[in-house]
Amino acid sequence: MSAIDYDVAIAGGGLVGAALGALLLRHGRVEPRRVLLLERDWVESPAAGAPLDLRVSAYSGASRQLLIDADAWRRLDAARVCPYERMQVWHEGSAPDSADSLRFDAAEIAAADLGAIIENRAVQAALLAAYVEAGGQVRRERLTQLVQEPGAVAITSESGVCRARLLVGADGAASQVRNLAGIASREASYGERAIVALIRSAQPHRATAWQNFLSTGPLALLPMADGHCSIVWSALDAESARLMALDEAAFNRALTRASGGALGELALASERLVFPLRRIAAERYVSGRCALVGDAAHVIHPLAGQGVNQGLLDAAALCRAIGARPAREDVAAPRVLRAYERERRSGNALMGAVVDQIDAVFKGPPGLAGRFAREGLGLVARSAALRQFFARQANGS
Ligand SMILES: Cc1cc2nc3c(=O)[nH]c(=O)nc-3n(C[C@H](O)[C@H](O)[C@H](O)COP(=O)(O)OP(=O)(O)OC[C@H]3O[C@@H](n4cnc5c(N)ncnc54)[C@H](O)[C@@H]3O)c2cc1C
Repeated sequence: MSAIDYDVAIAGGGLVGAALGALLLRHGRVEPRRVLLLERDWVESPAAGAPLDLRVSAYSGASRQLLIDADAWRRLDAARVCPYERMQVWHEGSAPDSADSLRFDAAEIAAADLGAIIENRAVQAALLAAYVEAGGQVRRERLTQLVQEPGAVAITSESGVCRARLLVGADGAASQVRNLAGIASREASYGERAIVALIRSAQPHRATAWQNFLSTGPLALLPMADGHCSIVWSALDAESARLMALDEAAFNRALTRASGGALGELALASERLVFPLRRIAAERYVSGRCALVGDAAHVIHPLAGQGVNQGLLDAAALCRAIGARPAREDVAAPRVLRAYERERRSGNALMGAVVDQIDAVFKGPPGLAGRFAREGLGLVARSAALRQFFARQANGS
């Protein structure tokens, strides 16, 4: 058999693949020169003072700790990071400040914040820099083929074929590793699209993440470090097409109405991007010497802001399983990969099911299920113990 070039190859250096690489080099008991990251679109940190990007994510407290462990957190420009202290959630049948509106406050769980809103690009670049600085190997190329051989996976990219004991697919929702490794997945459209943009608001965001559950889909306003908000406005396909076709003034009016006036008048401060929303669940996370992490394994509705957070937990779990193997044991030994799969598949499936339920219950005409959900929101709003429970979930503590 040909020589094995790497112990671990990671296809995809997005948020999750880059996190796995950076964590492995520090905590996975692998030699840096024996780890390869393949990424077709390398990103660099945003320049200091450059306008904030419109692709952002809400990072839980647990994800922040993971970014510290990966030596990426200290590389982020604090001026671009927005810790948020509160969340306010309501439904379109009530006002944002009504008694039924749900408020989670970091102070209620004695935490400084519930998490932070950060540009995807800044986090990805910080993780890639942490990986490269620790001596990880890189090919700025696309994986095009894989063949599982006895003892290794042969990986083809533009510069040729190399062999690794373990290939991790961190290559996103349309994962080639998933397809080439023959891992089946269940996929369905939510029948919604998410409109993403930066906006200005008449009133300050007060370090609060706001979310209104409309019958056409949820609207989230996420606070940004420069005072703007990032919106994620999920709407049924026909409604999102209508919203995207509106001119700026009409869109601003529709957005202000949909926000229930929570922050006064809202106005676009960037272009609008639109993302079709799909649910994907890989039936297995492991096949032979291949494993999946992040969106390659599971994609959920963004309403709970959990996609990256779940993916980072995958990266940490796989790193732990590899790091805990006995000395000289193969990184892709079945018990190593099974330990990872056992830990993450049920947790991700549960999160997906909860998110799907929330989406289904609030969407559509107000039926019985919708009424229960709205009353449930009010119930949680009035119980300090339940609010603390959900605040801890958001904070990841
Ligand atoms: C509108 C919207 C809002 C969201 N908001 C949040 C939020 O607030 N919080 C949250 O936690 N999640 C959020 N998510 C989900 C989150 O964006 C994803 O879960 C996350 O980006 C997945 O990261 P990943 O690294 O697994 O995949 P990706 O980000 O898709 O990265 C995959 C990487 O692999 C590379 N790649 C692909 N194919 C190959 C190949 N063949 N060879 C080499 N490289 C390859 C790509 O270039 C890319 O860099 C949101 C999603 C959407 C759509």
